[in-house]
Amino acid sequence: MSLNDLTGAYPERAAERDRWILARRPPRDAVDPWHPNAFLLEEERAESGEIVSVATIFLTNRECPWHCLMCDLWKNTVTESVAPGAIPAQIDYALAELRKRRSAGSEAASPADIPIAGSDRGQGHALGSLVRMPALRQIKLYNSGSFFDPRAIPPEDHAAIAQRVAAFERVIVECHPALVGEPGLKFRDLIETGGGGRPAHGGVIRGGITQRHAGSGLPAAPLRSAAQAGDPAYNAVGRVPSRGGIYGAMYNPCVPGPTPDPSQEGNVSGASAAGLSSSGKAERGFVAAMAQRASPDSADVGGCGKKLEVAMGLETAHPRVLEKLNKRMTLDQFRRAAEFLRRNDIALRVFVLVKPPFLDEAESLVWAKRSVDFAFDCGAAVVSLIPTRIGNGALEALARRGEFSAPKLATLEAAVDYGVGLKRGRVFADLWDLEKFSDCETCFAQRRARLQEMNLRQIAQPPAGCDRCRERAG
Ligand code: SF4
Ligand SMILES: [Zn+2]
Repeated sequence: MSLNDLTGAYPERAAERDRWILARRPPRDAVDPWHPNAFLLEEERAESGEIVSVATIFLTNRECPWHCLMCDLWKNTVTESVAPGAIPAQIDYALAELRKRRSAGSEAASPADIPIAGSDRGQGHALGSLVRMPALRQIKLYNSGSFFDPRAIPPEDHAAIAQRVAAFERVIVECHPALVGEPGLKFRDLIETGGGGRPAHGGVIRGGITQRHAGSGLPAAPLRSAAQAGDPAYNAVGRVPSRGGIYGAMYNPCVPGPTPDPSQEGNVSGASAAGLSSSGKAERGFVAAMAQRASPDSADVGGCGKKLEVAMGLETAHPRVLEKLNKRMTLDQFRRAAEFLRRNDIALRVFVLVKPPFLDEAESLVWAKRSVDFAFDCGAAVVSLIPTRIGNGALEALARRGEFSAPKLATLEAAVDYGVGLKRGRVFADLWDLEKFSDCETCFAQRRARLQEMNLRQIAQPPAGCDRCRERAG
């Protein structure tokens, strides 16, 4: 590697960016493909307004094929696809460990009986403080990439995964917009039926794209994608002609599809929903057992029902900065993926970066606000504001060149104040490692508590901060 490779400017040409980013990576962490790399329980405000507990499992799997400039999620991934069965085993392990933390009884009578060890990430509590939290009703399966990337999460495991999460009223997965398509619809149906069969509600017409036979007992009608629905703009970005268009290929669950080529902007590894096995072979975990007991009514607490939620990284609505992030996604592509989710009754969560590279502090606040607006315009139920963090080598290199610095806590606070004030949906601040963005020990705890309160209550809270910070803020 030449000195220029290590010290050179971030390439203007998209084709050279992967190499620049990869050259600056620190070593990958050692992870076990049969164990999740982390799991925790956190509190979150649900759509219904209730505070619910969320089991968040960080699955170990193959690295995401994109190489975004700000991403460090690859650190806890492996270089090859995990074996079928590994992901369900990881979920079983995490849920079993969480069950061990119950404060009383030998078996969970309901998800609400699971006590929480808390977390130091997101909206959770500090680790080590066993507290009884609200009902455990949601689960996040975050895989440091795209849940619907067939080389990350083996599609033949989808049914077994669905069985394990069927008791939760909300199942949240993450996905690059290019991979939002029909496998997501099939997985949606699987989690609504506990891993097999037709949807418990008998099938509904959803938004004009997906049609199901209501109560016919017949297999669901072939599902149509946004592209097949005649959206010319969507077709324009699909570049998988050998597969018959964006969603043209038949889906063989026993043969993982090729990893999408991120060099093809807008590439979508799509598939028809046909052929996905509904037989989960792995042993069912305790949550799946609860699913057997759960009545349809009990799964519908809060009026939200069981439902898939897909989290997509918008990162920023700044078109030029988004392009430089190397995510190989445009705002139009994001918008179309969001529309596909909306039409198919899948909730949308959006990740927005606070202060991505190439923006100064003032610009970053302006664009954080615009990004929140864009996310809600796309139908987001949740916007999660994530302060951009160093740690992947590339951002450190940009920082040395004066093209990146971490956001100030005040910028995150202002973005959250704005988003919550809109009242267009829930806006959460990611509180992980929040102290890294503070330069004042005097008032940090107070300011963190305020953000946590806003996360949970979704209403403005009185400003927090010591006199010195207030003076500096003017
Ligand atoms: S798409 Fe997401 S997981 Fe993949 S590299 Fe980009 S930020 Fe990381
Ligand atoms: Zn202060």
